[in-house]
Amino acid sequence: MERRTDIGPPHYTKFLPPVIQKNYGKWKYHEGVRPGVMVHVAESGDKLYTIRAASPRLLSVQKIRQYCDLADKYCDGYLRFTSRNNVEFLTTKEENIEPLIAELEALGHPVGGVGRSISNIVHTQGWVHCHSAATDASGIVKSVMDDLIDYFTGKKEVPGKLRIALACCLNMCGAVHCSDIAILGIHRRPPKVMANLSQMCEIPNVVAACPTAAIRPAKVDGKDTVEIIEEQCMYCANCFSVCPALPMADAELDGVSIWVGGKVSNARSQPMFSKLAVPYLPNNPPRWPEVVQTVRKIVEIWVEHAEPDERMGEMIQRIGWPRFFRLAGIQFSKEHIDDYRYAALSLKRTAQLHQS
Ligand code: SF4
Ligand code: SF4
Repeated sequence: MERRTDIGPPHYTKFLPPVIQKNYGKWKYHEGVRPGVMVHVAESGDKLYTIRAASPRLLSVQKIRQYCDLADKYCDGYLRFTSRNNVEFLTTKEENIEPLIAELEALGHPVGGVGRSISNIVHTQGWVHCHSAATDASGIVKSVMDDLIDYFTGKKEVPGKLRIALACCLNMCGAVHCSDIAILGIHRRPPKVMANLSQMCEIPNVVAACPTAAIRPAKVDGKDTVEIIEEQCMYCANCFSVCPALPMADAELDGVSIWVGGKVSNARSQPMFSKLAVPYLPNNPPRWPEVVQTVRKIVEIWVEHAEPDERMGEMIQRIGWPRFFRLAGIQFSKEHIDDYRYAALSLKRTAQLHQS
């Protein structure tokens, strides 16, 4: 009975600040105090202030120590990270808010992203780490957020919440399917088959790894290998994950696509998947000007046309996709046609026409 077979992570309740433990499940309301700061008020009258700052997600040990020092100084040691890589400092002392913000800004971490604003961009590994990346993650995110920073800090007003995500390939470790604007790295060519494949990989595993059955065993010059049926390949890089002899990266042809209209929230309308807006933009490091410009244009359309608290997908449904494409200057192309086997479910199947 004493034997522990699954240790697992420690229970989260051990790490809650005392004010949350005391008032757990007994919060009356919460509201914004100033950009990047909100207060939760409990039925007991206790207050908890949250100060949200942007973090770059890929954090050095030194940076985490800086955060911890600030949390020790102003928040009795309590902080947390949000699912979109913001860092939030939690304190019951209102007088600590301004000095904490001053120190965060001196360290280069703007405070914002709460309520009606653009939150920090959730993103994946990119060229820093992942083997199947079709684009970088941190580099694009830094460039896009530098351009949109006034919408994060509250210097420029927005009609509601806007969530941006980046995934560096369509395996999608980032939340790109459920974000208002999604930046998605794409490969555009099938993997190349290296000559020594059978010495590096187990062919049955490689064949089984392909979700579209585009890989089949073959013999070349009497050696076991595989061949790729190009028309069936959707450039997902699954095969490269199990076999390094099938490289996908292509410096010329890999690039970025932009998707819009996803959300997780149940408020006002059901959760939505994002849909393709821009099929291809080039990889153009170090500042990706084409991606930055395109995302800004889409944000500005939303800022100008959305009703209060309307999310991107809700706005597009209201004004219609044709009008959104016209406003954004996006040409309809063959890539916008859904040819997945369940595509019929996503096609318009009524005789009603949108008037916009
Ligand atoms: S999205 Fe793709 S390339 Fe990026 S970290 Fe995930 S698996 Fe790797
Ligand atoms: S990239 Fe994906 S679809 Fe193409 S061959 Fe590899 S596993 Fe199959």
